[in-house]
Amino acid sequence: MSVKFRDYYEILGVKRDATEDQIKQAFRKLARKHHPDVNPDNKTAEDKFKEINEAYEVLSDSEKRRRYDRLGANWKDGAEFTPPSGFTFSQGDPGDLFSGGGVFSDFFEMLFGESSEPRKARAAKGEDAQAEMTISLEDAHRGGVHRISVQSVRRCPDCNGAGSSNKRICVTCRGAGRVVTPRSIDVKIPPGARDKSVIKLVGQGQPGAGGGPSGDLYVTLRITPHPRFTVSGDDVTVESPITPWEAVLGARIEVPTLDGKAEMKVPAGSQGGQRLRLRAQGLNKRGGGRGDEYVKLKIVVPTSPTERERQLFRELAADSSFKPRK
Ligand SMILES: [Zn+2]
Repeated sequence: MSVKFRDYYEILGVKRDATEDQIKQAFRKLARKHHPDVNPDNKTAEDKFKEINEAYEVLSDSEKRRRYDRLGANWKDGAEFTPPSGFTFSQGDPGDLFSGGGVFSDFFEMLFGESSEPRKARAAKGEDAQAEMTISLEDAHRGGVHRISVQSVRRCPDCNGAGSSNKRICVTCRGAGRVVTPRSIDVKIPPGARDKSVIKLVGQGQPGAGGGPSGDLYVTLRITPHPRFTVSGDDVTVESPITPWEAVLGARIEVPTLDGKAEMKVPAGSQGGQRLRLRAQGLNKRGGGRGDEYVKLKIVVPTSPTERERQLFRELAADSSFKPRK
């Protein structure tokens, strides 16, 4: 029995020592060009597309590629091919070999036909995946469960990852064997998360091959800037406006905290720009405990005082002995 030799490197237009990435890139480029969706009712394009898929099927699989490379570099594409002696070929199923119209060529079937030599499913862990998630400062402080949507690569359910069924290219995955679908994942954020904290979700990465475990998903947290609080380590700072008389006489004022509000004493004689500390009102720490909150005082004056207020300030100006620039 002889079949036509196929030069898979020539088909993909890559060198024999091409890397996995180069092969993948060449395949993608060609597959886009010759895809049946782009070339409806074009038999030549369809044949070309099958050829490309076959070449990629072999060269992207290190085991198949190694086996193919053992044939040597001197074969010409389309040459009559008979297996060299001593080369172990699968016998294939004669019923399948010349049925025609299949996804893979007779040459492929002869080399890799699976009917007599089932593909060894090598268990391999799936690839790890990355995702980013934006949360508020309050959510980072308190923790909780947040839902995230990730683009997830899954084994194609229609062809079970083979890329073809009944020798036809699978229409669902277009021969890739994998489909990309959005997937919702609940991410449990521990209290005390910080900007750029990474949460590892075991087994939520890409699916494994040959019964291998899935990879892991690494979610990087991004905390949106807060309209009032600025963060420095475990501490937060908030600016609070006070009146001139509150600064002079002292007062009890209400200030915002991460958990709501708190009352704070402004001592008599406080200056603008001064920072007052509220102990343990900052961010939760991972190991327990909390940072502090700093309240930065900002003395503000009435911009449209009443006549009575102006009168009182005039009296103050006349009677005061305070000379800050002396
Ligand atoms: Zn499929």
